[in-house]
Amino acid sequence: MTANAASHLIQHYVDNFRRLPWRSPPGAPPPDPYRVWLSEVMLQQTTVATVAPRFERFLERWPTVDALAAARDEDILSEWAGLGYYARARNLIACAREVARRGGFPATAAELRALPGVGAYTSAAIAAIAFGEKAAPIDTNVRRVVARLHGLAEPSAGEIERGVLELMTHDPAGDVVQALMDLGATVCRPRQPRCAQCPLSGHCAAFASGAPECFPRPRQRKPRPRRFGAAWWIERDGHVWLVRRPATGLLGGMAALPGSEWTDAPTAGRPLGTVRHLFSHFSLDLAIELRPDPCGEGWWHPLDRLDEAGLPTLYRRAADIALAARRDTRAAA
Ligand code: SF4
Repeated sequence: MTANAASHLIQHYVDNFRRLPWRSPPGAPPPDPYRVWLSEVMLQQTTVATVAPRFERFLERWPTVDALAAARDEDILSEWAGLGYYARARNLIACAREVARRGGFPATAAELRALPGVGAYTSAAIAAIAFGEKAAPIDTNVRRVVARLHGLAEPSAGEIERGVLELMTHDPAGDVVQALMDLGATVCRPRQPRCAQCPLSGHCAAFASGAPECFPRPRQRKPRPRRFGAAWWIERDGHVWLVRRPATGLLGGMAALPGSEWTDAPTAGRPLGTVRHLFSHFSLDLAIELRPDPCGEGWWHPLDRLDEAGLPTLYRRAADIALAARRDTRAAA
């Protein structure tokens, strides 16, 4: 069954592959590992539609890993603004510099795994897609397709890895990986999988069960704790006071509005508005308050060039609330 399933999967990929800026089409030489690495880092927790234009802008600005390694941290962090999960951007910088120091990316998953910020998934993706190694990067799409194919309600990581490796009867291994990623994104979707269009339906245990969407069983999510804080809008002569967050920790090194610590206690007072932002481990209610005087080390940034400040989404939304409140006050005056 597996060799047949693999043939059907690859033929479907050849006929339907997604054209993405970091990919090579089936049959073409594999993409530069720099492109695979950059795209995989960007795609962690961020959608393909959001990443595609940002990836191209990054590539235009820094076409090689050496160019990225030589860039200033602030420039990279600003370019990353809006993509979220800023620890990724800091690891990106550290990894680019380590790869440049070594003279290029290593070619195996085991060696790639030793690079800063490169985990099991990313190392396997680069090894398979850029270097043709039979390695199994397991994201949610790949996990879902393989779990359904084998009818596994609660698959272990080992079972999924074996399922992927068994499908690698064709070279290059990267095409099998990308075929599974595409199938999970477009056909074997979490709800209402399109089994009638699926090249694996003749081999699929979940399809045979009559209830494919029941595989794999959803994981229980823990409720996110809530945290609270304030951001201060300090404006003078068409400028706003910005600060840089500490280099380590959440949003580390990013431009920000100054503000209070984030704690478990709701903030008092009457803010201009509040931004609710979801981090991976908690949700934050950030109250936007007016303050008269600058505080901490920072700089005056012109309001008409706020888009160039490199503010992450949380602070950009906070700034938009402050700007809207200011417009309303002026209109009422
Ligand atoms: Fe997914 Fe249906 Fe294809 Fe099975 S037949 S892999 S459930 S789309």
